[in-house]
Amino acid sequence: MSDETKLFDRVCLIGLGLIGSSLGAAIHKFGLADHVSGYARSKETRDTAVKIGFVDSIHETAAQAAANADLIIICAPIGAMEAITREIAPVLKDGSILTDVGSVKKAVVAAIEPHLQNTVHFIPGHPIAGSEKSGPESGFAELFTNRWCILTPLENSDQTAVDKLRDFWLALGSPVEIMTPSHHDNVLAITSHLPHLIAYSIVSTASDLENVTQSEVIKFSAGGFRDFTRIAASDPTMWRDVFLTNKEAVLEMLGRFSEDLSALQRSIRWSDGDALFDLFTRSRETRRGIIEAGQDTAEPDFGRDHVVDKTAKDK
Ligand code: NAP
Repeated sequence: MSDETKLFDRVCLIGLGLIGSSLGAAIHKFGLADHVSGYARSKETRDTAVKIGFVDSIHETAAQAAANADLIIICAPIGAMEAITREIAPVLKDGSILTDVGSVKKAVVAAIEPHLQNTVHFIPGHPIAGSEKSGPESGFAELFTNRWCILTPLENSDQTAVDKLRDFWLALGSPVEIMTPSHHDNVLAITSHLPHLIAYSIVSTASDLENVTQSEVIKFSAGGFRDFTRIAASDPTMWRDVFLTNKEAVLEMLGRFSEDLSALQRSIRWSDGDALFDLFTRSRETRRGIIEAGQDTAEPDFGRDHVVDKTAKDK
């Protein structure tokens, strides 16, 4: 450990799945803390974390793991965050920073903030990095490299603490953007939550078709459908919690989407080729913008042999 890279003495990870294990591995790789303590709900996950070695100490309760930590990161499902905060709040050190990685922010603020003393700096966060995989064995230190991390400080958040948390994410390889929790939830509703809902829905429609057998769906799955099945393989607990806690923004975006889909349906019915061509041309420009911004690569990926950047699939 070099003192030049170290940002915290002790970091605590609560929840040791994809995001928690990746954070543990990255903190070690980049030398950001002297000690990483960890807690997960099941003994199996705790044992796996010790075996892989992305934590330095493992604890049987969240409170034991969080005691004496300078930075505590809740990496558990959103629905578990309130109970975790209630448990750890009494042991949190004065001046420590508490953050989270939840995919929704307004609901997380409502679940966590009321239980904290004002001696703890609470700064919600969301790394726009992940994959459809879950669990402690799916993590890797480079998950956050070149992936945005959004921080949503509260109105009364201490600027020094916000700067320190920003430095932490920068050191993990993530550029950082600051916004309000409400703006975050609107942006992610269209860029992440709605696409997942559509993927879950398309895969379910395909499996319900009576005149196409399951084996045909699998055998003849074209690139488009395969991409949807990857997204629809995402963790059910996480995504249930996202839709239960970001209802308002998702329903708003879903309403707009349904209107646009009806317009497309009309263009097909009335053979309005110009309308279809214009819309498809505009969509290509969005794709080009994403590639130019370095958020994906241009190589074709039909799911066979070709592996694109492992980190390219955000939630
Ligand atoms: P994951 O791989 O399923 O891991 C979740 C971890 O939380 C597991 O260690 C689990 O323990 C633990 N946990 C579950 N319920 C708990 C409880 N009641 N108390 C304490 N620990 C509990 O999930 P993940 O993908 O890392 O997601 C974690 C968080 O990151 C979520 O809030 C999600 O919204 C956010 N996020 C996910 C992604 C993504 O792509 N996956 C991206 C950005 C943000 P056990 O293993 O013992 O059950």
